[in-house]
Amino acid sequence: MNHFELRDGEMFCEDVSLAQVAGAVGTPVYVYSSATLERHFTVLETALAEAGLKGEDGRAPLIAYAVKANPNLAVLATLARLGAGADTVSEGEIRRALAAGVPPERIVFSGVGKQAGEIRFALEAGISEINVESEPEMRLVARVSRDIGRRVRIAFRVNPDVTAGGHAKIATGGADNKFGVSFSEAERLYAEAAGDPWLQPVGLTCHIGSQITALAPMEAAFGRMRDLVERLRARGLEVRRLDLGGGLGVPYFNQPEPPSPSAYAAMVAGVMAGLDIALAFEPGRVIAANAGILLARVLHIHERPEGRRFVVLDAAMNDLIRPAMYDAYHDLRPVQPRPGATAIADVVGPVCETGDTFTRDRELPPLESGDLVAFMSAGAYGASMSSEYNSRLLVPEVLVRGEDWAVVRPRPTYEDMLSRDARPPWLD
Ligand SMILES: *Cc1c(COP(=O)(O)O)cnc(C)c1O
Repeated sequence: MNHFELRDGEMFCEDVSLAQVAGAVGTPVYVYSSATLERHFTVLETALAEAGLKGEDGRAPLIAYAVKANPNLAVLATLARLGAGADTVSEGEIRRALAAGVPPERIVFSGVGKQAGEIRFALEAGISEINVESEPEMRLVARVSRDIGRRVRIAFRVNPDVTAGGHAKIATGGADNKFGVSFSEAERLYAEAAGDPWLQPVGLTCHIGSQITALAPMEAAFGRMRDLVERLRARGLEVRRLDLGGGLGVPYFNQPEPPSPSAYAAMVAGVMAGLDIALAFEPGRVIAANAGILLARVLHIHERPEGRRFVVLDAAMNDLIRPAMYDAYHDLRPVQPRPGATAIADVVGPVCETGDTFTRDRELPPLESGDLVAFMSAGAYGASMSSEYNSRLLVPEVLVRGEDWAVVRPRPTYEDMLSRDARPPWLD
């Protein structure tokens, strides 16, 4: 459920008219709903609690929101106020999480290519755990912790060799992709780390993919993770934490319906029954996707004599790349629907690439030049993957709360854009 609804013939985000936001900020612009973000976090938190799942010291499991889904500081701060932690994959994301008020002990640091400087920054900031993804990375973390003279808590990211996820580009759990160590490596490295004066292995993590709409692959992966915990413990090694990653899918309109948070939590409780372990989760999409839309304006309706009809928008692939990159489906709705018959059209942006096509042959409600439209479910991996390709200004973001709204990332000016480049002295 989300808080984008028609009221008296026009779409609102909570109690704010989207037409009013578009008039004030211009388009394209992302608009996020605080109430939806909060609701998604709370629904997941409640589902985990009701399934009897526990985190460290008997408290609730850590929900480390995956910052990359939507890293806007206002979004992070909204979630931080509810007690969310942060799953980060770069120093930039750690800095964002800290700036938004996420306590360092609720931040975990994942990613296959962490650099020494980033690891050092993370340790000095006091973040709770480094998720180690390979043997060379383990050696690097040990070296950095020796340099700064502090023992560091690590968890091993294990690749459970289960493929899942809505698209090949977002499946991360197969043995042939770059993420994590194998089961046999995990056993060997865990034992080695336990004997290293600078490393304190505290647990295991996995994350098998994104936009997962079936429980079975997750259940299989989590079962293998449980077996590994038991094998390590049988060898006398301490395993306190098991971080099960993110990946839970969201309903993108005509897509397969994902499992509910309570079905997911019940599945986890079933797999982990009788195992005394602190659980953590790293959801991104399921928190943010349906809490945001991309608001755009129809520039032209272009009808080819042969019959193809193109709806040209002022938003493009640089603002929302998911359709071009993952063949993703986003529902497209008029903000002020008109009466009339539907028509089949391609929806495209102004960028000079054929890939700048949001959808082909889509049956759409009546639209005219100047109309506002909303790409639904665009709150995750939308603005966070935006760029200035074609020298288009970086898309701005707005956060709504009740009847209040604020620009939480302004649209840059062309001067801002140009001033970031520098001219080498030999061209003067
Ligand atoms: C991207 C990512 C997540 C979040 O994935 P969602 O599908 O958005 O829930 C969690 N953990 C790690 C390590 C990730 O890379």
